[in-house]
Amino acid sequence: MKRIGLISFVFVLFIISFSGFAQQPNSSINKSYVIVLHGGAGNISPENTPPEKQAALKSALSEALSAAKQVLSKGGSSLDAVVAAIKVLEDSPLFNAGKGAVLTAEGKAELDAAIMDGKTLKAGAVAGVTIVKNPITAARAVMDQSVHVMMAGKGADQFAREQKLEIVDPSYFITPERWKSYLKIKEQDSIKRVKEKFGTVGAVALDMDGNLAAATSTGGMMMKKFGRVGDSPIIGAGTYASNEACAVSATGHGEFFIRNVVAYDIVALILYKEWSVEKASDYVINHKLKEQGGEGGVICLDRKGNIATPFNTPGMFRAWLKFDGKSEKIEIAFFK
Ligand code: ASP
Repeated sequence: MKRIGLISFVFVLFIISFSGFAQQPNSSINKSYVIVLHGGAGNISPENTPPEKQAALKSALSEALSAAKQVLSKGGSSLDAVVAAIKVLEDSPLFNAGKGAVLTAEGKAELDAAIMDGKTLKAGAVAGVTIVKNPITAARAVMDQSVHVMMAGKGADQFAREQKLEIVDPSYFITPERWKSYLKIKEQDSIKRVKEKFGTVGAVALDMDGNLAAATSTGGMMMKKFGRVGDSPIIGAGTYASNEACAVSATGHGEFFIRNVVAYDIVALILYKEWSVEKASDYVINHKLKEQGGEGGVICLDRKGNIATPFNTPGMFRAWLKFDGKSEKIEIAFFK
């Protein structure tokens, strides 16, 4: 009788070990999540970023980190987290995305955004939208609610209306500061123009389920010709995510990032050469691009939570929050 009791006890233990209970210790490992942000790269130095501006940028980036954390800490998806963070940065007039975006040569805001899901490789992007308050929501709608990957111009604006996204007057995006610098830059020569700061915003995240996502939103380059599309909304150039490699969001001189397919190039080096995110992103940004004169940087994140944020400009606004299941670490940095 005793023996039967022992056998059934062992049997019950065996069943438990194959059920959800046995995964309890492991699941605590998966309580980890990470969010990494950028607010643009370029000629950013302590000399041209006064302390009040630095404080304002820090608080906007912290707010965006918190918005993403709200999602991730409750077990939400990396896709929802990157959208939450980007919306905060689009609403802030400090960055070149949404409100406060740079202006075309005609003095208008034409906005680009993209999002990609590392689990399914689904992606959505909009280019040259003019009335969508949060272009990242339009990119998300293209991914989730259409059979397409990218929509541009009037068609994208119309699609956003149909999706009942928040619509604003085009003047909403133009801040007095941007208008002032637009008038100033208009008088300078075009070579100087491209040396300006890049203030695009980007986010990459890893959720508790181990899924990666990437998102980027921008007004593009100051004084761009109307209709010009940069790297940010181009899947593989300024934005890419694959659970097999990493999630990437870029900022910099878009034409170089498009020609070098930067985001996917980093992913490919990881996939085919088995390089780390650090090695792959450093090679592309600090060697390949630098040799061509392509200015900018990227934020990268892999499934193990490894972060790389290389840039070949004097500075890049960047911030990350990492929760390893026990404690949280936050870092916000601007300069080299
Ligand atoms: N990469 C963006 C573009 O070329 C600019 C930026 O990063 O600020 O459109």
